[in-house]
Amino acid sequence: MSDVAFPADYEACRDIIDVGRRMYERNYVAANDGNISCRVAPDEIYATPTGVSKGFMRTDQLVRMRLDGTVLQSGNLMPSSEIKMHLRIYNENPTIMGVTHAHPPVCTSFAIAGISLDRAIYPEALVNLGVVPCVHYEPPGSQGIPDSVAPYCLDYNALLLANHGAVSWGTSLLEAYFRLESMEHYATVLMYTGNIIGRANVLSCDQVEDALAIRSKLGVTTGGAPSCCAREPTNLRDVMENPPKDCPFKICGAIATNRLDKSTISPEQRDVERIAREIARRLAPILRT
Ligand SMILES: [Zn+2]
Repeated sequence: MSDVAFPADYEACRDIIDVGRRMYERNYVAANDGNISCRVAPDEIYATPTGVSKGFMRTDQLVRMRLDGTVLQSGNLMPSSEIKMHLRIYNENPTIMGVTHAHPPVCTSFAIAGISLDRAIYPEALVNLGVVPCVHYEPPGSQGIPDSVAPYCLDYNALLLANHGAVSWGTSLLEAYFRLESMEHYATVLMYTGNIIGRANVLSCDQVEDALAIRSKLGVTTGGAPSCCAREPTNLRDVMENPPKDCPFKICGAIATNRLDKSTISPEQRDVERIAREIARRLAPILRT
């Protein structure tokens, strides 16, 4: 760690407040949810306190603490119970300099469904993030949460916490935050392709390898790789149109009916309609008897 440059205290505090505001504005956290931390020395971090909206924090509210949990400096608020997860992540991997935890709606929905983000559909997600395992459920604030994330801290960049939310880390707080953005974006694309559009061309094994080679070139060795099953790419054809196989509406293929206005009805049509109404009126008493 001797050659690692740690951010100055003011930079760490500024970045935590900045990331908190972005998380809040992007709807990744509601009310006082979520927590953010930044390493400033091998054994010390700054972290967000409990009971504060991440969109409205002040520097004097942040907590400085050691990785053994000792609080070194705080305002009148203590660290959140979820800070145990942050401390464990820093302890497991000394290269990690920032951690973000939030409850972004789409990621949290995948976490509630128990579905990891691991489909090979999107090179950007593979390069910026990798795959995101969903770790088993542990009660909020319990020691079970740090224990559940610990096995993944060296090889992955982010996790879903079952029935809870998302956590990401990086070699800077900003990288950790961008990974949180990437995972919510990736999860949103997975949701659209899986449940709304209902179809996705999966990247072929070669295309996955190309994306992972880009990631290695950027110096990132963590993030995992999606299991690759498609030998032949299905996305190499230009698509100009997608004619529907079965039209779901009876009107399909008929003449448009929304282009008719009253002025286009001819006088003859009006006469026919008037006579038909008159016949119906005169027949009505006969048909009733
Ligand atoms: Zn949480």
